[in-house]
Amino acid sequence: MKILVCQPPGRFPGDRYVCPFPSRWTSMFQGYPVFIYYPYELAYLSTLLKREFPDDYVKLIDGTYLRFTAEDYIQYLDQEKPDWLIFEVDTVTYKESLRIAKAMKAKYGTRVIITGQYPTAFPESVIADGMDYACIGEFEYAVVDILNGLDPKTISGVYPNSYRKVLDIDSLPDPEDEDIRRIDYSYCGGHRWTKYREIEVHASRGCPYTCDFCVAGTVYYEKENWRFRSPQRIVAEIENLRRKYPEMEGCWFNEETHIIRKKDIMSFCQALIDSGNNDLRYEAMANHQRIDEEILEMIKKAGYYKLRLGIETIDEATGKSIGRKTKADRLHELLRSAKRLGIEIYGTFMIGASGSTPEGDRKTIDYGKKLISEDLISSWQCSISVPHPGTTFHKKAQENGWLATNDLESFNGSSGTVVSYPNYSSEQIMDSVQLMSREFRDARVQETVRPKRSLAAEKTAILKQDKPEIDKLVKSMNARFESDPKGAAEEAEMILEKFPQLLSPRYVLGKVAVLEGQLQQAREQFEYVYKTAVDYDDALMFGAGAHYRLGMICIEEDKRDEALQHFKMCMHLSPDHQEARKQYWQLIPDTIPEAEPAVVS
Ligand code: SF4
Repeated sequence: MKILVCQPPGRFPGDRYVCPFPSRWTSMFQGYPVFIYYPYELAYLSTLLKREFPDDYVKLIDGTYLRFTAEDYIQYLDQEKPDWLIFEVDTVTYKESLRIAKAMKAKYGTRVIITGQYPTAFPESVIADGMDYACIGEFEYAVVDILNGLDPKTISGVYPNSYRKVLDIDSLPDPEDEDIRRIDYSYCGGHRWTKYREIEVHASRGCPYTCDFCVAGTVYYEKENWRFRSPQRIVAEIENLRRKYPEMEGCWFNEETHIIRKKDIMSFCQALIDSGNNDLRYEAMANHQRIDEEILEMIKKAGYYKLRLGIETIDEATGKSIGRKTKADRLHELLRSAKRLGIEIYGTFMIGASGSTPEGDRKTIDYGKKLISEDLISSWQCSISVPHPGTTFHKKAQENGWLATNDLESFNGSSGTVVSYPNYSSEQIMDSVQLMSREFRDARVQETVRPKRSLAAEKTAILKQDKPEIDKLVKSMNARFESDPKGAAEEAEMILEKFPQLLSPRYVLGKVAVLEGQLQQAREQFEYVYKTAVDYDDALMFGAGAHYRLGMICIEEDKRDEALQHFKMCMHLSPDHQEARKQYWQLIPDTIPEAEPAVVS
């Protein structure tokens, strides 16, 4: 069997880019290749299938990372000719993924399993669209049962049956790190707001809360589904990652909610301390309701530097409606303790939720401003509340006639609100969103410097007063490159003597070394550039080019796997980089095993 495990395409018609996280939500941005997440559940599925079906061909392809369009995906899959396709989709990514799945069914009779938020909410429509199986909720073992040929009527977690029993997350192997590399999601502007080079690790799964807007809370899982993995297993996974990626600086526990049961977080922190892994830097999504002073002190000792807390609203009526009660005094006290301990807080706030009013959201804006001006939260997210189909919020919106559109791709939280209330119109909601962004920005204690992502990137910091001189020197060096590369290299060396933190002279030195056939020297320069250009803007400016040039050096040296890796990273950063795309498509056929000859009976 040829089994392809697929993350949806990353680039949609109209030059829109998606950032999927199916158990929470998917964002979509116009004309800007956004950061993306490691597709953790598909990644677990991929290694599970490799374990359960060792004689079959299983491959995970992340079309979001590669910024594939649906057409790119079809071109890729035309070479694989899969027997099975497994997609994880949500409201935003369903339509484009369906287009790909239908093309494969028509051409190769591929059987298709659709998993994720969308089939959990609307399994009937997935089947009506001609797909073979629709999974409900967590899907890893349901897919194994399907591939083992069990009758779908007997498989729980597969339509027409309902949820499967909550799975034992310790029974899963470590997630995929070969078909896709976990470190890649932290490079190249990967997680835009992580401070260090952090690899996503999932220590828990699920959430015991039922916030009405949340896919995890009201669609994807049944109640009482929060689980924490064995601390020893998580530590072993972190140690494997450290061995494989010496450049790793920490982990991001990008879960629904990392801290729920006190005994779990305390024993995990103890395991990090006992194993000496508290020298890494950790951040986590968490619920402030479940955190106390003792937990804060313990996580600090274990290496945590940041918590991402869902504050959402401070208005009592809105909080009651969405199912999220926040005691302002308690939260304030907690944030003061975090500040005293040096733990940064990233707060998430929400506008236009069910039950919200202009006055209620105004209260939340004022409260958030207060926290920012007291330096109790250092970064934040202003979200437009979205009634994702299947959620309680969506049901309320349908019943009350609040939905302003039924276009599924608009339910992305980035292109505007999709609801309008009798006492709070779409326009007023968007006004509140802008007000929140503006007033939060103005409330900052000090001008936020561009985040220097990773310890390596700190080397690239530039003092403001040096900028005019640097601009002049770099302009002269670049102007000289075409007609006099050697002269440009001399200028680059001189610039680096004064400003060793600059990336552009290293880039020029790399290009000159290529012209002179000094491939090892060129490699060193370009590797330095991409490893330090992890700040988002630097990554876009220098990282993509450095990867392309490293890819070409690898081709010269006949290191085709490594070359492919660099072309992929270049395409991720610069989706229209035609040379990298050309090289990628030339190398791909070598990575696909030839089909076995048909057996003649
Ligand atoms: S706390 Fe609420 S928003 Fe966060 S994961 Fe749980 S249900 Fe979702």
